[in-house]
Amino acid sequence: MGGRRHLDLDRPRRRRRRELARTRAELDRLGLPLERLGRILVTHPHVDHLSAAGALALQGVRVPVLCHPDAAACARDLDTLVASFDFHLALARLPAERERSAAVLERMRAFIFAGHAPFVATEPEPLLVEGATVATGPFTWTCIHTPGHAPGHVVFHEARHGMLIGGDLIGTSVAWHSPSSGGAHGYLASVERLRALDLALLLPSHGPPSDEPRALVERMRKRLLDREQRILDALASGTSRYADLYDLVNGDPDHVRLFPFAPMLEGHLARLASLGEIHESENVFERAR
Ligand SMILES: [Zn+2]
Repeated sequence: MGGRRHLDLDRPRRRRRRELARTRAELDRLGLPLERLGRILVTHPHVDHLSAAGALALQGVRVPVLCHPDAAACARDLDTLVASFDFHLALARLPAERERSAAVLERMRAFIFAGHAPFVATEPEPLLVEGATVATGPFTWTCIHTPGHAPGHVVFHEARHGMLIGGDLIGTSVAWHSPSSGGAHGYLASVERLRALDLALLLPSHGPPSDEPRALVERMRKRLLDREQRILDALASGTSRYADLYDLVNGDPDHVRLFPFAPMLEGHLARLASLGEIHESENVFERAR
């Protein structure tokens, strides 16, 4: 009990206050009051992962908040965070959606960032660079920079016990990414890095811990590659317009064409183009070979 422990503060979300009260009570029960919290490590600057740090500060619990240098600007400023979702790419592709997309963005700001999962600006210390180590009790965690999902996304690897704190990179989530966060190229490269690790336990941000991390890594990789294969198959069968590809990748034509599928499609198209698989001329795509 006396050493330093790792505490997962992800997922503050809607019942933030109640959850913080519950977190406080649980830590008290363990003899680890919040007042003994030494620092907060942020996997990435999305509101459901970072804002608890600001909320704690508002409650008087002020400790260093550590993140990757690429995440720091998003932690400080909501507009910078929103810009990292790359809505502008979808709006440039789909001018007819401009009005509806603007409404979605407004709703997002009103109900998510101001209500459901409030944005709380945080002044982080950008120390979680690739290879940085953090000791918590008997564990030494190594920081691995894993771009794709969010600017400055990192995971923490404990090599001796094969443990991984995976943030949103791996687990049961949609695997959404945006080009300015690293896109499909960055995401797949990050997944490849995890494939090379000897993992026994995954602690994801969303969902329960898993003692089958390798299977989850493989499933995520397959999900990303399957999405690209659907794009290639569609191009091979004559689909070529961006809007049609969008509907195909999205799988739900009624979904507002903005988020998160448009940034994801953009990322996959960029990756396929960089691999020489496709080329584009003014929103029309074709197989290159
Ligand atoms: Zn996230």
